[in-house]
Amino acid sequence: MSCILCGGRLTPRLSKAGRDAKNYNIAECLNCGVWQIAPMPSEAELNALYQSDYFKVRSDRGYADYASDKIYRSVVSTLEKNLRDLNFFSWEKSLNGPKHLLEVGCAAGHAVAYFAARGWQALGIDIAHEMIEAGKSAGRPLLEADFLQHDFAGQKFSLITHWATLEHLPQAEMFLQRMAKLLADGGRIYLSTCNTGYFARRYGISWRYLNVPEHVFYFNHRSLQCLAKKCGLKVVRAFSYGSGFTTRENAPWWYNFKKHIADRLARYFLTGDMIVVEFVVE
Ligand SMILES: [Zn+2]
Repeated sequence: MSCILCGGRLTPRLSKAGRDAKNYNIAECLNCGVWQIAPMPSEAELNALYQSDYFKVRSDRGYADYASDKIYRSVVSTLEKNLRDLNFFSWEKSLNGPKHLLEVGCAAGHAVAYFAARGWQALGIDIAHEMIEAGKSAGRPLLEADFLQHDFAGQKFSLITHWATLEHLPQAEMFLQRMAKLLADGGRIYLSTCNTGYFARRYGISWRYLNVPEHVFYFNHRSLQCLAKKCGLKVVRAFSYGSGFTTRENAPWWYNFKKHIADRLARYFLTGDMIVVEFVVE
């Protein structure tokens, strides 16, 4: 079997039972370094899974809560940290004229609301019906549609964001290609995804993001660069976070000290659990 992103040779890496009790094999591409479920579940299989009661129970639980202020504040807190590290705020100041944002995979649209409040003409798109409905009822500019099929009528965007979604998509390459085509001149794509850094390798099947079959791809800096190139994009900025030390209230000084060091190492050596990248047209 070969890598569905780059055609490189795959080598078996792990095997894990999914939440649907089926066993999934995860292989690593010897060329680009991405991990992927192999064979990749078909779109029909994944759709059936997401519609099954088992998956619905878990996701339904969050809907009522998802539009709450508490979740909004938590989403915005992470978003602002990422935006600061992406040097977004000084770039935003340099933009003239109307600023258009598209969030692909927006769920209930918390981040879309954040940008709209900053004066952006923001739009979120997602296929998750209940999430979109929850967001719309809060007055957010959201669209329930398939990003690959939707007709944007020639509109271009200065910023396209895609937070923690790419790992779910067997059509990851088509998504990134379409985003590249929708970018205005000088536009940027911001994307986050889980990262096969130190912890993925250390914990193997117990790694917290090894969720099969929902996560079909597991990227790192190299595989994202490789994918970007195929889509006519390049990575201009990348950092990683998630060092294994969570923020604890009233933690002793030595815990915070260790956390500080570990966070720094994860960030600069791209070894954390999550990676954030900025793409521009090559
Ligand atoms: Zn590959």
